[in-house]
Amino acid sequence: MTVAITLAGGRLELVRGDITQQAVDAIANAANEALRGGGGVDGAIHRAAGPRLLEELRKRFPDGTPTGTAVATEGYDLPARWVLHAVGPVWRGGAHAEEELLVGAYRSCLRLADELGARSVAFPAISMGIYGYPPPDGARVAVRTVAEHLRGTTQITLARFVLFSEETYDLFTDALTGIA
Ligand code: ADP
Repeated sequence: MTVAITLAGGRLELVRGDITQQAVDAIANAANEALRGGGGVDGAIHRAAGPRLLEELRKRFPDGTPTGTAVATEGYDLPARWVLHAVGPVWRGGAHAEEELLVGAYRSCLRLADELGARSVAFPAISMGIYGYPPPDGARVAVRTVAEHLRGTTQITLARFVLFSEETYDLFTDALTGIA
């Protein structure tokens, strides 16, 4: 199943699947501030990339990175060349700048992708698992932020959301219909 729209020079796609399998230039990770691996998609990415991923993170980012930002590493054993480790917010009721921080996490990845020269980027549903961001809102923020970037000045020609569950995929489809 793939849903896609074209925005300026870029294509925004939604697919169901596993982000670790994506043959794109860069994949985003839903990391935590410590950048030391974790559960969910973070654990899956670390397992698939191999131990050198954690070694690079420890060496280059000993203090981690704040919520709403991202850092880039190599992809090691992944098909993707780079991993963009983004830290989304933990949902704490909505009055703690959660939306701004989620936008920041996606924007930081898009900015890093452009700096690296990545043309294709895949994203998971950042903050929508263990971090508890309300699903319909998280999907809307994600789709809107990535679509805005594709409409601006960028080298990215493909942005793909890789959704693990059918439910999340359906929410992203609704969000995409809302902006198309
Ligand atoms: P967070 O802590 O930011 O909420 P999670 O990893 O708990 O991050 O969940 C983020 C989203 O990633 C969830 O929708 C979860 O179902 C999904 N997910 C988990 N594993 C994978 C994977 N291998 N590929 C793509 N998405 C995944």
